[in-house]
Amino acid sequence: MEDRYKTIVNLAPDVIYTLSRKGILTSLSPSFERITGFKTSDWIGRHFAGLIHPDDLAQAIKIFRQTMRGQTVLSYELRILSKKGGYLTGEFSSAPEIVNGKIVGKIGIARDITRHKQDEEKLRQSRDHLKVILENVVDGITVQRSDGSLEYVNNAAAIASGYRSSEEMLENPTKWTETFELKTEDGQSFPLSKLPGRRVLGGEIEPREVVGFLNKKTGEEGWSIIKARPIFDEFGKVYAVVNIINDITQRMELERRKDDFIGIASHELKTPVTSIKGYIHLLKREHKQEDKHTGYLIKVDKQLDKLTELIQDLLDLGRIQGGKLIYRIEKFHMADLIRDVVSDLQRITPERRIILKNGIKRSVKGDRDRIAQVLINLITNAIKYSPRDRKVLVKASEDKGNVHIAVRDYGIGIEKSEMDKIFDRFYRVKDSRGKTFPGLGIGLYLSSEIVTRHNGKIWVESGKGQGSTFHFTLPAN
Ligand code: ADP
Repeated sequence: MEDRYKTIVNLAPDVIYTLSRKGILTSLSPSFERITGFKTSDWIGRHFAGLIHPDDLAQAIKIFRQTMRGQTVLSYELRILSKKGGYLTGEFSSAPEIVNGKIVGKIGIARDITRHKQDEEKLRQSRDHLKVILENVVDGITVQRSDGSLEYVNNAAAIASGYRSSEEMLENPTKWTETFELKTEDGQSFPLSKLPGRRVLGGEIEPREVVGFLNKKTGEEGWSIIKARPIFDEFGKVYAVVNIINDITQRMELERRKDDFIGIASHELKTPVTSIKGYIHLLKREHKQEDKHTGYLIKVDKQLDKLTELIQDLLDLGRIQGGKLIYRIEKFHMADLIRDVVSDLQRITPERRIILKNGIKRSVKGDRDRIAQVLINLITNAIKYSPRDRKVLVKASEDKGNVHIAVRDYGIGIEKSEMDKIFDRFYRVKDSRGKTFPGLGIGLYLSSEIVTRHNGKIWVESGKGQGSTFHFTLPAN
């Protein structure tokens, strides 16, 4: 061999070898020792078959014969014995060695790809693990590409969407829109553009929605919380969306039963309370003279009023749930309403100072009684959640196209973390000292429903121990 070629063979990181026509190894480059751990002299003069994994031998012999017939074979894999025991994977290419036009043997080159193979195997295993996990979580999981097409669904998602398997869903991803009608919590039809996945593509980071699924064929109804998160590419662009679909059908059914119960119970309570109230009035008339009994009757009557209010709140709650709260819209003077409410409340709580600063002239269009109910709620809360010796401020002003009412108290205040939640149904702040205020946690929920229905806004500014200011605005007429 020419010196140049010798140097190349000696330096090559791959193994370069030659075989005789009978398959005997006639030369092996030095890298053979580094890779396999054997000495070249251990193998030169021996048949190549001894180095090959038994399962790969048939293929190795087949290729050897092909080269002996003059063919060049590129890029095939064989497992080779290593000195430590075990096998390495090599990627081979080989060709006939031709001298004076005659095939005298074979020249081959082999690259060690064991590490690469192991990495590939590890990757495959971890992918398989992940797949098993994803397939077995109870939540539905889907991955959408940025063009909206489906890249992955697990079985839970496919079955919840009316398919038999995830494969079937990947083949026909839009069938579910034909099967289901989507609904919002208050029974309206759910616009597809509001689905969290689509909103992530529009730039939102973590949208979440409660979605009802009505099966058009069977009439069955299911509910899910759908959450979506973006996956970004290396340029920070949304490359895919992961949707997590949590089935809450059972929970919604329980909620519905609870709502039904509250509805029925409050309705049933109303009749006896009204009747008791009637008898109290009769008794009061009979006891004209100021005696001990009249005092008791007045107290009973006051308690009955409180009970009636509670029942009314519960009934309203049921009506809101069913979308049946009726609003009687009329034009009225907001200033008059505020003055009436404040003076009524002042009359029944003479021990408190309620200060009114009125700067409103404009009128409002809406349900006067419902808006009065909001104000009563806010002022009674201000009284309830502050000490007896502190005043309550009611300030009304005009602000651009709105009337703005603020109710300020100097009481216990509300922690920042609770401020969003207090407008939720039945939500009540737990007091760490165990002090409890009576109530059902409905007042603010009703108030926020009423204000929102009038295209207004309601919010609170507060801090623990700093008192609270509840604000609401309504469009002025
Ligand atoms: P309720 O007063 O019947 O519990 P609400 O819906 O009116 O129900 O209020 C919800 C919760 O918000 C209350 O339980 C209370 O913890 C808190 N809250 C309401 N108003 C105030 C206020 N002015 N100051 C402090 N906390 C308040």
